[in-house]
Amino acid sequence: MTLQHQAYQPPSPDSAGKASTITLTNVSLSYLQDTCQVEALRNISLDLGDKDFVCVLGPSGCGKSSLLNVIAGYRAPTAGSIQVDGKEHVQPDSQVGVVFQQPNLLPWLNIEKNIEFGLKMQQIPKEERKRIVAKYIKMVGLEQFAALLPYQLSGGMKQRAAIARTLATDPRVILLDEPFSALDALTRESMQKHLRAIWEETGKCLFFITHDVDEALLLAERILIMHPNPGRIVCDIPNPLVLRLRNQSFSALRSSKEFVQMREYLIGQIQAAN
Ligand code: ADP
Ligand code: MG
Repeated sequence: MTLQHQAYQPPSPDSAGKASTITLTNVSLSYLQDTCQVEALRNISLDLGDKDFVCVLGPSGCGKSSLLNVIAGYRAPTAGSIQVDGKEHVQPDSQVGVVFQQPNLLPWLNIEKNIEFGLKMQQIPKEERKRIVAKYIKMVGLEQFAALLPYQLSGGMKQRAAIARTLATDPRVILLDEPFSALDALTRESMQKHLRAIWEETGKCLFFITHDVDEALLLAERILIMHPNPGRIVCDIPNPLVLRLRNQSFSALRSSKEFVQMREYLIGQIQAAN
């Protein structure tokens, strides 16, 4: 079969009418490596809206995690600014939740208490905490496992607990850095379905980093591509498969002509970095 991705034209960005939650303006970041400056990000401007589900694709080392770290407030940009709801975001806080590749649960607390931990830090009253924890444990399908310790759960279940813990603190945006890449293929697909369903239920703004083109096409409403040296965004397009995502199975989607074409197109865009 000949793939005709050169004939494929992706739709243009359509962010009209969306309230902006996070705004990055001319964000740059350099690291000092030995005696050299590495320009990890150059001049990134970006709006993330309410209910956005953005997937960021790009080769290893193109600056995806660096971008996440500056949005989270873990690193100060060398230049430029980040605003959350119009206010400067200069350090980590509960407005911006983060889910990493490893779930990082506290091993001495059971799943329920792990999810409750951030709410305690926010000094939310006990009754309210219980209500919130029950809601999110149910949302991620872990009701039966609430009393277990992390080591008693599978990798996928631990990552679901980590997502519930982040959702519980009600952030404006959740940043996810390759959260499913340590999971086996079947668990990964089940997690992707869970995450799509959680996004549909909560309408949270999700900023999801992956190097897997299929994963981006199966999850995102909007896809960004980054190129390295210096790290920058070269492509920002709506996912043309979103309507199919709402009413087709992943396997039907994967075998559709539109999916195959879009996959080829995105791979071409990523490879253009070399
Ligand atoms: P990605 O997540 O896309 O793989 P990173 O953001 O981790 O990319 O890295 C982007 C660039 O910044 C790479 O060249 C990497 O070597 C460099 N870099 C990342 N973190 C650091 C750090 N803490 N110190 C120095 N250089 C770093
Ligand atoms: Mg990374």
